[in-house]
Amino acid sequence: MPEVAPMLIVGLDEEQVERDLLSGRLACPACRSPLSPWGSARPRVIRLAAGPRTLCPRRSRCRSCDTTHVLLPSLCLARRRDAAAVIGAVIEAKVAGAGHRPIAKRLGLPSDTVRGWLRRFRARAGDIRMHFTRWAAALDPELGPITPGGGEVADALEAIAIAVRGRVLRFGPGAVWAIASELSGGLLLANTSCPFSAVR
Ligand SMILES: [Zn+2]
Repeated sequence: MPEVAPMLIVGLDEEQVERDLLSGRLACPACRSPLSPWGSARPRVIRLAAGPRTLCPRRSRCRSCDTTHVLLPSLCLARRRDAAAVIGAVIEAKVAGAGHRPIAKRLGLPSDTVRGWLRRFRARAGDIRMHFTRWAAALDPELGPITPGGGEVADALEAIAIAVRGRVLRFGPGAVWAIASELSGGLLLANTSCPFSAVR
């Protein structure tokens, strides 16, 4: 059975998230009813490229089904202690041709961790490419076909880049991997057979 993470990826602007929460604009991922504030989740340390940062994410509760959801800012991925941008930099370096050991050394990461992320990304590359290609088309209906050809990991990264570009052109600038986290519902490297929420 797929693991359903009791969390919802939200934007980086905490005040905006609070306003959205109070006004019922955040929807329950399970039933789409409005979420209400429900205290805070336990603090957690997220490793950013600049160093560790402690987050204390807001928690919410669905007004209809009573499920609680942690509101995780999009600099994170679900169940990963490293920020989306750190994992993203690894994937970009791999597509640029580096091996996992040099990548780990350059970014100051354990090489087993880097290898694990790359394995997971490679295993999911087809799903990731399809998911982000759908997002790219939803965000930019004028977009022509995306031609594959760089290998499955490179093609997946290309689809992410095109979807992120579409999101930026439509809704304004943002950090690339935070947008990628948001568009994947935080599940970019999730350990499930059906990881991604539908394109809305
Ligand atoms: Zn609900």
